[in-house]
Amino acid sequence: MKIGFIGLGNMGAPMAKNLAMAGHEISGFDLQAPCPDGVIKAASASQLATGKDVVITMLPNGEILRSVANDILPVMQNGAVFLDCSTVDVDSARAVAVQAEKAGLMAVDAPVSGGVGGAAGGTLTFMAGGTQAGFAKVEPLFEIMGQKSVHCGGSGAGQSAKICNNMILGVTMIATCEAFALADKLGLDRQKMFDVVSTSSGYSWSINAYCPAPGVGPQSPADNDYKPGFAAELMLKDLRLSQKAAKSVDADTPMGHSATELYEQFVNTEGGEGMDFSAMLPRFEKRQRG
Ligand code: NAD
Repeated sequence: MKIGFIGLGNMGAPMAKNLAMAGHEISGFDLQAPCPDGVIKAASASQLATGKDVVITMLPNGEILRSVANDILPVMQNGAVFLDCSTVDVDSARAVAVQAEKAGLMAVDAPVSGGVGGAAGGTLTFMAGGTQAGFAKVEPLFEIMGQKSVHCGGSGAGQSAKICNNMILGVTMIATCEAFALADKLGLDRQKMFDVVSTSSGYSWSINAYCPAPGVGPQSPADNDYKPGFAAELMLKDLRLSQKAAKSVDADTPMGHSATELYEQFVNTEGGEGMDFSAMLPRFEKRQRG
């Protein structure tokens, strides 16, 4: 397949590199970042998109996605797939899909879970939205860049699944951190707390796989001074997207709303920016009720 890749940042560069290493002819374009090994540098996004079977984007947000789509959809060849792997708002995903279909193209929104480590190791999970034909065409690429892909439904379904998952993640991480801080004040040993909760009904990925308490449970960013990992500001981005989506469909998400406010406070006024999202635990440790 002839593939173009736009957005060669922390995630895009290793993903593009894995496709090149698997033998695909791949060109890349980024406003700033260099092309990784094996990826041919294009002069512009529209030059890159011309004549490609698939164009992949891995960009910061929906606004940038829409502007890149405006540039490249008109020059892409009929029947090609526009595959966006960024995490963006559901409305932007659906808007570019409509635009792509009008231009005779297929569109798939396929945000990922697994972070930079998953991108480098080719072990990402893709959650995809779009037609069956579009999904079938790019599924072999998911197999190279990841270890699992789920076709969630029509356009926007991938973004919907991603923000629902990450809303649960933000909420459970906060709940886990506040429970650890409460346990501390009650004089409970952290290891005992982990041993009980990780095998009882309070268990979740946040404690079992990514324990926010240093020296307890599996290795996690807590064991590395809370260096990310998954940075608090990226969690905030996803929580904001969940609230934007909830507002657009009039869904009541009180826990998601509270989690968004807490991460906003943590990132904007409490020094949380640049720290892992599990650093909510030292934040709660320092606080009192009220
Ligand atoms: P990043 O900021 O490292 O990379 C984005 C790249 O896009 C940058 O290199 C930037 O120069 C480039 N870019 C911006 N505007 C452009 C344009 N108009 N044309 C071409 N290139 C342009 O971000 P990242 O960490 O690689 O994340 C990318 C996406 O993946 C985001 O939507 C993010 O939410 C999502 N994501 C990130 C992680 C993670 O752990 N980093 C995990 C899951 C999902």
